[in-house]
Amino acid sequence: MIRVAIGGPRGKMGQEAVHTVMNHPEFELVAVLDYKDIGRHLSESSEFPSSYTVPVYLDLKDLLNQQKPDVFVDLTTPHQVYEHTKMCLMSEVRPVIGTTGFTEEQLKECTELAKRMHLGGIIAPNFALGAVLMMKFAAMAASYFPDVEIIEMHHDHKLDAPSGTAYKTAQLISENRIEHMQGHPDEKETLEGARGAFYEGIPIHSVRLPGLVAHQQVLFGGEGQLLTIRHDSFNRQSFMSGVSFSIKKVMDLEELIYGLENVL
Ligand code: NAP
Repeated sequence: MIRVAIGGPRGKMGQEAVHTVMNHPEFELVAVLDYKDIGRHLSESSEFPSSYTVPVYLDLKDLLNQQKPDVFVDLTTPHQVYEHTKMCLMSEVRPVIGTTGFTEEQLKECTELAKRMHLGGIIAPNFALGAVLMMKFAAMAASYFPDVEIIEMHHDHKLDAPSGTAYKTAQLISENRIEHMQGHPDEKETLEGARGAFYEGIPIHSVRLPGLVAHQQVLFGGEGQLLTIRHDSFNRQSFMSGVSFSIKKVMDLEELIYGLENVL
């Protein structure tokens, strides 16, 4: 049995992950981390059935020291995730991070820390298999179509922009794309932000609307043609096979992996 703890159990992703881990024959949910006092056990929270007698911790250090999980799954917020990841690695607990919002500097620091600790970890900006394939296909297409723009669309409760998936997609594209100036050289924004945010010259546009879950289009333009690669997550269930896969996979790793495409 793999001993798992989850951060952010009341959240939309966290609730799905709690049920996924509870119902998985190879996983044991040993604790959850919240920052609000929801009771001593998950079963005291109205979101969960009375059979979920899993202890709730308000402090990650206490959780890691007392429960000693094998894996900590973080589904909290961009404000906390970096500290949580570092704390897990320092406590020799393997992080599986679904929360987005890492800076490049923070990623580098966590990667180096995992290396020093000889400890596995996974940071997955997107756990959905289809989204991972979308990123791979986009990276392939970039060698042939250097003119590209990314449109990512999410629900309006999302805290970070652009999404971790869009950021990662742009990174993968830029590794394969011939460096290239897009658009008209004299282009001028008459309304600031009209052309989006830029990663290595690739525009990223972030849409936030109620009703959306997680969607992305990568548009490649060529002479007389447009290639669109699109992925839609219609509900949080789409991420759960990736969460289970990562919990198992991280047990065999000795380094921090950024992006599921590197371990699938
Ligand atoms: P959400 O519904 O807002 O859930 C976040 C939960 O974390 C909330 O219950 C929040 O409580 C709680 N929380 C905040 N700070 C905390 C802390 N310090 N300790 C413990 N819990 C804390 O958001 P979500 O849609 O589930 O998404 C969570 C994260 O996953 C986001 O960063 C999102 O971008 C990311 N995400 C990743 C994937 C992926 O495939 N990797 C897919 C979807 C979303 P309160 O609401 O009471 O503040």
